[in-house]
Amino acid sequence: MAPTKYIFVLGGVTSSLGKGIISASLAKLIQARGYRVTIQKLDPYINVDPGTLNPYEHGECYVTEDGAETDLDLGHYERFLNDPTTQANNITTGRIYQTVIQKERRGDYLGETVQVIPHITDEIKKSIKVLGKTGDYDFVITEIGGTVGDIESLPYIEAVRQLRWEKEHDSLVIHLTLVPYLAAAGELKTKPTQHSVKSLLELGVQPEILVCRTEHPLNKGLKDKIALFCNVDSSEVIESIDTSTIYNVPILMAKEKLDQVALKKLHVETNLEADLTLWKGFLNRLKHPVDEVNIALVGKYVELKDSYKSINEAFIHGGVMNDSKVNVHMIHSESITEDNAKEKLEHMDGLVVAPGFGKRGIEGKIEAIRFVREQQIPFLGICLGMQCAVIEFARNVLKLKDAHSTEMDDQTKHPVIDLMLDQKKLEDKGGTMRLGKYPCEIKDGSKVFDIYGKKYVKERHRHRYEFNNEYKDQFNNAGMLPVGINTQDNLVEIIELENHPWFVGVQFHPEYKSTVNNPHPLFTGLIKAAKKYKHKVHK
Ligand code: GLN
Repeated sequence: MAPTKYIFVLGGVTSSLGKGIISASLAKLIQARGYRVTIQKLDPYINVDPGTLNPYEHGECYVTEDGAETDLDLGHYERFLNDPTTQANNITTGRIYQTVIQKERRGDYLGETVQVIPHITDEIKKSIKVLGKTGDYDFVITEIGGTVGDIESLPYIEAVRQLRWEKEHDSLVIHLTLVPYLAAAGELKTKPTQHSVKSLLELGVQPEILVCRTEHPLNKGLKDKIALFCNVDSSEVIESIDTSTIYNVPILMAKEKLDQVALKKLHVETNLEADLTLWKGFLNRLKHPVDEVNIALVGKYVELKDSYKSINEAFIHGGVMNDSKVNVHMIHSESITEDNAKEKLEHMDGLVVAPGFGKRGIEGKIEAIRFVREQQIPFLGICLGMQCAVIEFARNVLKLKDAHSTEMDDQTKHPVIDLMLDQKKLEDKGGTMRLGKYPCEIKDGSKVFDIYGKKYVKERHRHRYEFNNEYKDQFNNAGMLPVGINTQDNLVEIIELENHPWFVGVQFHPEYKSTVNNPHPLFTGLIKAAKKYKHKVHK
């Protein structure tokens, strides 16, 4: 079998150039030629994982099947490749150091001084090669977080330098940079790219393909100039122009021949053509919607779109399945009250209440849910969103006035959402929630059964609190039906309302599993119901 090929993607000039999307697009193009490919993200921060980070820091925390709390770029990888990732696909400096320090304490380095080089760099290299060693992949694409020049990226770039030396014919460095447009001069500027490549060269790394983010097309003269200054061929300077949707990027990269150039540099001779039929079909429907719906997304991190990345992408997938544009209206949960819920939500065709932690904004979420429950507007509650639906129903239908989750009020007389026993004993906050994939059995004849079209599903979790089974019969008898049960632990995973056209709460996160090839049925179902509601009520 041919050795695994390693592709490194490093960013320069600024952050937020879209390394994740470029990595995912290249992977898609390679996968579309029939190769097995995975993508990995190395994050230079010292947190062991992003699980304890506020979403304002790096956006949402993405959860894999095996329960790893990871960077949101892994969501892009899965959405593009339709292939699950694992803990091995996201490594942080914290995790690397934790491993090295554990080894040192165990005595693995007895007699040695433990240093950044070689001990930390060895551990980084091991984390990169571990995916290749599984034998499952022809290509491993490793995206290094941060920007060239950051102090904390240095050990990663050094590890890349060593790996390039070790795997001369089986590895490749791609550098993603910015070619800014100076309006006053009316010109695109190549100097930042030149400087960024020089910084990499100082660290011993020669990037072999330059992907240049730009607002305007790069003409031949400009590509030649970048090539001349950066020791690459003009054909190895790839234009990455701004585009209206990330799902267009693989198509743009195919036009620029990024995959062909990369394969050639890796000495992979192939006459396999990239088959992008499915992808293009999706893109075509995305670009030509025939209807549109307005969906409110209520959460408390509204200022930063990335906080709800997977939900926003799942809306796009579900919209495409309904040939509908989904206009997402972010509403801050703290801004909703009993008095203004109508005004804020009456023009909406559907509501999603987002996941979250802590007390802030809870009452606004509950008021929003009350309004859509009473008005029969389609609703999907995700994790904390489901818990809020349970609290709302308990207070306003079951008349348990002070019902709450013990996360918000540990003295409540009616803890309809409560900690499970095994969570009560925990002291560490990091990595100790109910995380990752759990099985769920769906009741025959329920609406959710029709939405999924199957009885057994596996969905990903990230929470501590659960529906309190002591109240199960009361809810069931009053019309909030527990229709999805984790039969292993006897936990309620899905509720639906009997007297409502589309009101679903899920304790898990369906958004993590929605991909271009497999849009999630709950999002597809919600948009379908929203369309129906719109044509009936708003005309
Ligand atoms: N805070 C809630 C819990 O821990 C919900 C978490 C979430 O929405 N992801 O159970």
